[in-house]
Amino acid sequence: MPTGGSKQVRAARKRKKRMASVAHDLTDVQWAALVTAWGGCAYCGSAGASPQKDCVQAISRGGRYTLANVVPACASCNASKCNAEVTGWLRRKKLDERSFLVRHYEISTELTTRFAGGDVLQEPDGLLESG
Ligand SMILES: [Zn+2]
Repeated sequence: MPTGGSKQVRAARKRKKRMASVAHDLTDVQWAALVTAWGGCAYCGSAGASPQKDCVQAISRGGRYTLANVVPACASCNASKCNAEVTGWLRRKKLDERSFLVRHYEISTELTTRFAGGDVLQEPDGLLESG
């Protein structure tokens, strides 16, 4: 009886498939709200060119593109952080780890509540009169 081998291969393939299909549910509206809330790069505060979407918890570490996990980052922070673990990276960069975590918590909590409420898609009252 041959044992082992094929089962492990199958498990690896399954894992790969699961990673490829993780839910990335950040909408354009949510992203715009994140950019407004942070008002610049979430890590260094730079308010230069259009920020990039950065996953606080990297995709390779199980993170996803969701409201609670994405922050705007400048090109330099985004490239530097890459797949690094966020708090260790902040410390290495001599950035304010604590204030980032506090702000990230506040903003993600506020926006998650806001978008969960379902009151963001308000009808423009009286503006769209039919007939
Ligand atoms: Zn930055």
